[in-house]
Amino acid sequence: MKIMLDAGHGYCTPEKRSPDGMREYEFNRSAASLAKELLENYQNVTVYLAHSDERDVPLTERTDLANRLNVDCYVSIHANAYGTGAWNSAGGIETYIHPSRPQEALKLAQKIQRNLIHLTGLRDRGIKTADFHVLRETKMTAVLVECGFMTNKEEAALLRTPVYRKRCAQAIAKAIAEQYGLKRKSDGPKQYKVQVTFEERQEAEKLEGNLRNDGYKAVIIE
Ligand SMILES: [Zn+2]
Repeated sequence: MKIMLDAGHGYCTPEKRSPDGMREYEFNRSAASLAKELLENYQNVTVYLAHSDERDVPLTERTDLANRLNVDCYVSIHANAYGTGAWNSAGGIETYIHPSRPQEALKLAQKIQRNLIHLTGLRDRGIKTADFHVLRETKMTAVLVECGFMTNKEEAALLRTPVYRKRCAQAIAKAIAEQYGLKRKSDGPKQYKVQVTFEERQEAEKLEGNLRNDGYKAVIIE
């Protein structure tokens, strides 16, 4: 299946930053690349990115690309903001679908929201609807997730940390895997190891030599 991840905005998008200067894009892109890595551990998955580190890719360009590639699912990743740039107490996580309430998108949004709340412990603001461009103009299942508030001091601190970004990525990847019944790539054929202990180094070296002659990989650990 084809999945498109969309880190909202770009590095230089004005205003999209926390009162202490973290750019929203820093969080968005980091969560998106971590989610891409995680999703690539599943079979038959191709992950595309809608954004670019070079510029704020216009929304039309993002949704045109998704439609042209005919991806199965589109997830737009954001951090929220409330008010006019000062710290305030608005907080929590919410996931958006289009007001026409497409059933597949609703199911995916519920899974993402549930996993995010479970993994981050933040306040559950629920599933919401909005006529956002990326939800309206995409022809496939599309959701937009707001992973906490940049204008909330505690949440802004979380949004900066690698561990919080990873948790958000895990929640998103897990939800997509659940929704589409994705199977993990196998870890390759099984391997068996034997460990032998000697009192004398010489004896260990002798066995190591014999094993190497027979074509096995052997290592001596003191
Ligand atoms: Zn945003």
